[in-house]
Amino acid sequence: MLSRYGGYMGKVMILDLTTGKAEEYPWTDKQREMFIGGKMMAAKILDDNFSGSERPFSEENLIVISTGPLTGTGAPSSSRFNLSTLSPQTGLITSSNCGGTFGWYLKKAGMDALILKGKCPERSWLEIHNDKFIFHSAQELWGMKTTETQDALTDLLSAKAGKKARFGKLCIGPAGENLVLYSAVVSDERAGGRTGVGAVFGWKNLKAITVSGNHDIPISNPEKTAAHLKKWFKYLRNHPLTGNQLPRLGTAGLVSSMQMRGLLSTKNYNYGHYEDFEKVNGETLAEEHNIVNKGCLSCPIKCARTVNVCGHEVKGPELETLGLLGGGILNNDLEKILRWNNELDELGMDTISAASTLAYAMEANEKGLWDNGLRFGDTDGISAIWEDIAYRRGVGAELADGSRRLSERYGGKEFAIQSKGLELAAYEPRKAVGMGLGYAVSNRGGCHLNGGYMVIMEGLGLNINSQTPHAKADGTGMFQHLMEMISASGQCLFTSYAFFPGFLLTRPNGPITSTVNFLVPYLGWALRFLNKFPTVAALHLPVFHHTKMIKYALGMPMTFGKYMRCGERGYNLERKVNAKFGVSAFDDTLPKRLTDVPQNPDDPTTKVPLEKLKKTYYRARGWNQNGLPTKATLRKLKIDK
Ligand code: SF4
Repeated sequence: MLSRYGGYMGKVMILDLTTGKAEEYPWTDKQREMFIGGKMMAAKILDDNFSGSERPFSEENLIVISTGPLTGTGAPSSSRFNLSTLSPQTGLITSSNCGGTFGWYLKKAGMDALILKGKCPERSWLEIHNDKFIFHSAQELWGMKTTETQDALTDLLSAKAGKKARFGKLCIGPAGENLVLYSAVVSDERAGGRTGVGAVFGWKNLKAITVSGNHDIPISNPEKTAAHLKKWFKYLRNHPLTGNQLPRLGTAGLVSSMQMRGLLSTKNYNYGHYEDFEKVNGETLAEEHNIVNKGCLSCPIKCARTVNVCGHEVKGPELETLGLLGGGILNNDLEKILRWNNELDELGMDTISAASTLAYAMEANEKGLWDNGLRFGDTDGISAIWEDIAYRRGVGAELADGSRRLSERYGGKEFAIQSKGLELAAYEPRKAVGMGLGYAVSNRGGCHLNGGYMVIMEGLGLNINSQTPHAKADGTGMFQHLMEMISASGQCLFTSYAFFPGFLLTRPNGPITSTVNFLVPYLGWALRFLNKFPTVAALHLPVFHHTKMIKYALGMPMTFGKYMRCGERGYNLERKVNAKFGVSAFDDTLPKRLTDVPQNPDDPTTKVPLEKLKKTYYRARGWNQNGLPTKATLRKLKIDK
């Protein structure tokens, strides 16, 4: 079913892992217009196939590996692909986004998406070349760590081709094989890290996938696309965040700003400041450890760090890992964080959930709830703990289940820092209450990105009042819509950092920035109007190049308003699917530490006024009091069937 639009390969395949049979899954241009690609397209496929009775570890669970129409088109930071499934951590639908080259190669094989159903009868890996699907025994790969697995696949395919083979690959490590609930899928050096997608691969006996092909990715208007790309790359390179801070320091560069603003989760979120932050911040990482900046395909931002661990050049840690494995467990040894980060990648585990679960266990031990031998600041045996988690041995077997389940077992729900079963990132929301709302309502659980990342307005980019609830619900909705679309299009969310004009960021105390910071909390009504009637913005914004790229590369009519409406559709669709699995306002929660205990005992506003924020958010979204989209909202978005 080829597409009239550029960017798309025009084919979605569904592969039955049980029988090995592959067939085309119907997907039309109308659906491409409505659901674009990536996570949104996956949500539609899951909505059409799930009744609500499916379980993460079951043959009925599907894995949708999808690309966006901009994946591989040369658009900035567009090497992304998406993995959607039912998460073993949350029991809800999830999407995990990954860089690397796999997405580009999937399109070279002629597919926009691949749906996996059933379960391999034995441990297997899958080789895809164009429309051929070949299963191989993974008996010899089983037990290998992620780099070793990918190297072994390269050797196997190169031996078969008689030359160095070029292909995309993804795999799981021992954690996924042993159903650690927060296992990752790793592709090159990047990871689809969050929500346990790796464990679903492990349950389905699927160790790895390789993909290659020789299809070309069509572009609707190559001349206009090329001219637009030239402008866009230049804009990103000149922007203070995407052209300076991220390339210079990576996401790690935010650690110092977070410390300054009380946003750095410390000692399992007891505090928002870590006295030794300078030993584990981006500046120290850059000065003492960074060897070279790396980036995903066609990315001018190049936010990835490369560091030396035991004589090997490996990927450096992101901000979340530095925060949670630094102040989060009272560890000021950066070299240990570099090593642990690599160990977790090799075992195939999400660093955020692993670190936060460890912090919960340390606090449970300190409070006498669970005698597990783990203590804040005592970090000598942590490498062995990661191994124990991955192989489900000793205390590791329990840690492998994540903080929510442990708090149900041992108590301490108020300090299990998770929402819907997914551990929060390192941004302490009591000093950024909009971020707190986002964590709570996020479709995939406590995720800063799916939650709308309001913290960028509340101290990390702009500096609006971080404690006021005003404009936070509407701002959260707006950013959720934008990020939904950026991701669905196949691009990295960091391209959205350039949404804020550079002059606002380079002069944080200048009169214009100060005025904007002052005014935004009073502009909730304007944001709500824009969210409600996005089509009034039938234009392209000079700071937001994404819409013109869709217009030129795909030949699909697009404006900023249409882009927003499409993102809103995606967000509501995910909520609609989650509602089948019983999600409601009851699940949009945060641990009591964040809602009931002020971070600053002398300032009662330093906690998240969650119930108040939720009410405004639901109303603004057209959801009922139970947190579910009304029929009218679903009808408006054309997802009521
Ligand atoms: S900004 Fe970083 S994560 Fe995003 S595509 Fe570029 S290198 Fe990859």
